[in-house]
Amino acid sequence: MRFRSDFPLPDTDWPPTREFWAAAARGELAVPRCDACQRYVWYPDGTCRFCGSQSFTWTTVTGRGRLFSWSVVRRAFIPQLAADVPYVAGVVAIEEDPAVRLVTRIVDCDPASLRADTPVRVVFRPLRFAGVQGEVTAPMFVPCRNRPFGI
Ligand SMILES: [Zn+2]
Repeated sequence: MRFRSDFPLPDTDWPPTREFWAAAARGELAVPRCDACQRYVWYPDGTCRFCGSQSFTWTTVTGRGRLFSWSVVRRAFIPQLAADVPYVAGVVAIEEDPAVRLVTRIVDCDPASLRADTPVRVVFRPLRFAGVQGEVTAPMFVPCRNRPFGI
C-alpha cells in the first residue's frame, strides 16, 4: 500500500469532504444538508440515504454536541502519531442531529473525567504530524466546562 507523502494529513481537495475542510479553515463546522428532505447527511456520499436526493447544501452548525464515544490512544500505531500520544480519539454527536456523529479528537481535557453524553463544543486546531510537512485546520472538541480563564 502506498500513502501520499503528507499522510496522515487529510486530503482537503477530495471532492466529497472538500467543503468540510474549507469550512474548518474559516473556523466553521459544516455538515451537508439534503435540499429535498432537510436532513443532515453524514458521511457525505453524494446521495441522501433518506430520500435519494443528490442535492446538498453545506450548512454551518453550532459546533455544540455531546460525546458519544471515545478512546484514549496510548500507543502510536503509525510513526507519525508518536509525538501525539496519549490523545483522545472521540465520536461526537452534533446538537442539530445526534445521528450525525463526527470522528474527531477531544482536546484540553483530563481523559479520566470524560463521560458519555458530556456536552462538548468545537474548537479548531492545526492537525500536524511528526515528520510530515504542512498542517490542516481540523475541528476538534473540548468539554464545555473547560472554558478559558474560568468564564
Ligand atoms: Zn434527503
